[in-house]
Amino acid sequence: MTSLRPLSDSYGRIIRDLRISLTDRCNFRCLYCLPETEEAANFYRTRFDSVRNPNPTAPKLPDWKPRSELLTFEEIERLVRLGASLGIEKIRLTGGEPLLRQGIESLISKIVKIPGISDVAMTTNGFLFAPKARQLKEAGLHRISFSLDSLDAANFKKMTGREGLKEVLAGITLARELGMDPVKVNAVVIRGMNDHEIEDLAGFARDRALSFRFIEFMPLDSSRAWLKEMVVPASEILERLKSKFDLKPVVSSNLSETARRWAFADGPGEIGIIAPVTQAFCGHCNRIRLTSDGKIRTCLFSVSEHDLKGAMRGGASDSDLAERLRAIIWQKEDRHHIGEAEFVQPERSMSCIGG
Ligand code: SAM
Ligand code: SF4
Repeated sequence: MTSLRPLSDSYGRIIRDLRISLTDRCNFRCLYCLPETEEAANFYRTRFDSVRNPNPTAPKLPDWKPRSELLTFEEIERLVRLGASLGIEKIRLTGGEPLLRQGIESLISKIVKIPGISDVAMTTNGFLFAPKARQLKEAGLHRISFSLDSLDAANFKKMTGREGLKEVLAGITLARELGMDPVKVNAVVIRGMNDHEIEDLAGFARDRALSFRFIEFMPLDSSRAWLKEMVVPASEILERLKSKFDLKPVVSSNLSETARRWAFADGPGEIGIIAPVTQAFCGHCNRIRLTSDGKIRTCLFSVSEHDLKGAMRGGASDSDLAERLRAIIWQKEDRHHIGEAEFVQPERSMSCIGG
């Protein structure tokens, strides 16, 4: 229910999608996000010559924000209400690990009722999902995406830095049993780490009727060890899947969709490939992000952030905030510059930005 002019940037893109990071903390230490383990360090050191001497100034793990710096649920609800009045329709709760935020179900039950918000989703590593699943469903959560990079317990631990495959698989099963539809599952594919599992992961999607997404590894890791050689390009993923499965392209009219999708000719479920590195989709991007400490990011790769928390806590009115948001979005970057000489990796990692 848009009451005001919708939010648009200077390239004519209308913003409809707000991703909210509820916390920068996480119970996992994924190799591509918050690498911490000796195994992760060894992977980076030994597989790729150019990271044998990683940037010594890069922090190993970010400093967690004190709780007083996190937006309260009331502040988040206020911003969602404001966003909805300006044309935001979709909300995704993410992090860090969103299920670490106590009482998340009470936030969900409030934002699903906001007029204009038609879709409330969450991205989670799934470890804490099962005990919370019913409350989340009752609160009105519409959709859920799990992250699952490996079906092999040992490799899962290498990828995530933690034991937990059993819990995540149980979470995915329960989400299907509770009738969440679609249940999406994301895997970040890293050369030499889990690329040998691409076919097994797709087979898992078909067996369990899941919407599975393979994602290219992006330079958003806290160790700043990303190299193009670690990215398995979408074209290679697709070629491998096509040689094993009979795939039919899924045509979508939604231009802002980030995944190219295929259905299995002989079973339920589907696969999608998200290729921000080799096939950027910036021209149709309709997203902005709100960090857990109240900063707006107009692109995953923004090198600057725009504070709304300070304005809110300083007494800004809704119309002040709306004008501020409009001005921020007007400056949204045209595209990212991954792979170009002038590319600068954002200071904060994916766990802080909110994937
Ligand atoms: N902790 C939750 C999870 O892992 O699902 C939510 C936050 S996580 C930052 C959101 C998504 O970002 C996950 O699907 C994760 O795989 C993805 N991600 C994190 N770092 C990434 C990177 N460097 N490149 C590509 N995707 C990444
Ligand atoms: Fe945590 Fe998600 Fe980052 Fe993994 S990808 S470390 S689960 S925030």
